Amino acid sequence: MEEKIIKFEDMQLSKKVLNAVRDMGFEEPSPIQAQTIPLALEGHDVIGQAQTGTGKTAAFGIPTIEQIDEKNKYIQALVLTPTRELAIQIAEEFNKIGKYKRVKTLPVYGGQMIDRQIRALRFGVKVVVGTPGRLIDHIRRNTIKLDHVKMLILDEADEMLDMGFIEDIEEIMSNVAQGENRQTLLFSATMPAPIEKLARSYMHNPQKVMISREQLTVPSVDQLYFETRDKFEGLCRVLDIEDSGKYIIFCRTKKNVDDLQASLQVRGYMAGSLHGDMSQAQRDRVMRRFREGKLEILIATDVAARGIDIDDISHVINFDIPQDHESYVHRIGRTGRAGRTGIAVTFIEPKEYRQLKLIERMTKSRMIRGELPTPADVIE
Ligand code: ADP
Ligand code: MG
Repeated sequence: MEEKIIKFEDMQLSKKVLNAVRDMGFEEPSPIQAQTIPLALEGHDVIGQAQTGTGKTAAFGIPTIEQIDEKNKYIQALVLTPTRELAIQIAEEFNKIGKYKRVKTLPVYGGQMIDRQIRALRFGVKVVVGTPGRLIDHIRRNTIKLDHVKMLILDEADEMLDMGFIEDIEEIMSNVAQGENRQTLLFSATMPAPIEKLARSYMHNPQKVMISREQLTVPSVDQLYFETRDKFEGLCRVLDIEDSGKYIIFCRTKKNVDDLQASLQVRGYMAGSLHGDMSQAQRDRVMRRFREGKLEILIATDVAARGIDIDDISHVINFDIPQDHESYVHRIGRTGRAGRTGIAVTFIEPKEYRQLKLIERMTKSRMIRGELPTPADVIE
């Protein structure tokens, strides 16, 4: 297949946006960016599908910020995303892209005082990134004005579907100005039929870009698995191999997260946890400590960790094997980001071997069987 090499400079971007992208350290567009940014800048509706960690945020963020009119004081773009952490993360990236253009993006999510958001919304915000539930809340209270929104973006649409947001999305979409001059962008790692169908019913002649499976695999992640009857002992050994690292450990349930955190604590490992029962302040605190490196280990459920972008995670550890291959891909996409090498370790009990093989088959990848280090291998 012929591959066109497109640079950011070739994309008809304003100096302000181009310089901001440079400041972010992006030298070349990723494949999904190279293919979708020009289409979106031409005003097309776009459906973009590519693996986690491939730069989808900037793929829709760059054309969105570029098309904002600084002189128009209304909200002009609305991004829908499944979780609070993602809303915050996307807003941060948008604010970086918009820094010279002085376009302000506000994250709006549940768990934060609504009055604070209402005040912030009155303050010259041009882009809003929100979770569906909280946006509906604002729409019903009449505290958000969406009639000047000309761009609507759905990010991680597959997750929003899984989390049962489809009716909320429909309600929000029907509140945003309809018609020819509205642009809709849909981005996701996977594209389940119901979400594509819903989006298409609001889109005009959407251009679909898919980065194929082959390009999808995460080549910079070494994938290993350990089969053991004592996963906890195995985990401790793996954590002891390196003197330092940044580990994210996945468990299936909130209870497993709490139990594992307690067990690790007893052994002297400092681990934070992240799950849906925590308050927003607790979640923000643990994320900040993990990001800053004050906490080496973060234990999380799938939903809580969805889309989290911390770029120097060294190890993703599946303490509980993921339920399906999509979840596996999402999880291991937390490491090996932006060209760095990461390690993904999956623990299985003997009876879970078939599940592991199924994930390998579905992701067309291979996990190397690891031997657990003996205590003698572990650095004192
Ligand atoms: P996705 O939404 O596809 O999972 P993200 O948008 O979160 O991926 O991007 C993953 C990481 O890659 C982020 O740290 C982001 O800053 C970085 N990144 C995105 N685009 C580029 C680029 N063109 N060059 C270098 N790094 C990039
Ligand atoms: Mg993303």
